[in-house]
Amino acid sequence: MTEIITINCNNANCYLIRTASSMIMIDSCHAGDAEMIEKQLAEKGITPEEIKLLILTHGHMDHTGSAEYFKNKYQTTIAMDPIDCTILDIESRGLIGAVIKYLSRKELHRSLKIQPDIHLVHGQRMDQYGLSAQIIALPGHTRGSIGILLDDGNLLAGDMFMNIITPSLAHIYENEDVLKKSRDRLKTYPITTVYPGHGKPFPFKKVNK
Ligand SMILES: [Zn+2]
Repeated sequence: MTEIITINCNNANCYLIRTASSMIMIDSCHAGDAEMIEKQLAEKGITPEEIKLLILTHGHMDHTGSAEYFKNKYQTTIAMDPIDCTILDIESRGLIGAVIKYLSRKELHRSLKIQPDIHLVHGQRMDQYGLSAQIIALPGHTRGSIGILLDDGNLLAGDMFMNIITPSLAHIYENEDVLKKSRDRLKTYPITTVYPGHGKPFPFKKVNK
């Protein structure tokens, strides 16, 4: 039985995936959110030392900000596509995109200070970490964006999608054409539910055309 636990800090989600044999964290919210994460872990009866692996879906600081804290304090192993250790400029679509880009402007241009311990690639299986899942490359929002597709059909999608008001494709991105191609490729996978980096989970069938 695989359980997905949501931790929300200042409008960014990180997730814990609990399986029979392991606890894996997906993303780490903003820098400065670590104590809020620790508090929510404690409320759920989880100790940070239980977390075997921290997978970062991409390099933006509202997802990677507390990774350094966990690595330094708990020696948590960090996994990501290392190309996202350097972040490129972002473009936006529409009014919502312009607002998100403006509000995120400070975080979107900071790069990671730590190097990942594990370099993830498309198609990589995660069974050796106790997780029945594969890594799917989802470039577009950033070059190194990845999704974690569990064998039960749940997709942890980082910022490929958001669901603050309604499910939607990312409103900010490094390359919109590449982003749309990633969305189209996802439709070839047996996905049931999307867990976005911002907002609530939603059925994959609600992904816009
Ligand atoms: Zn992002």
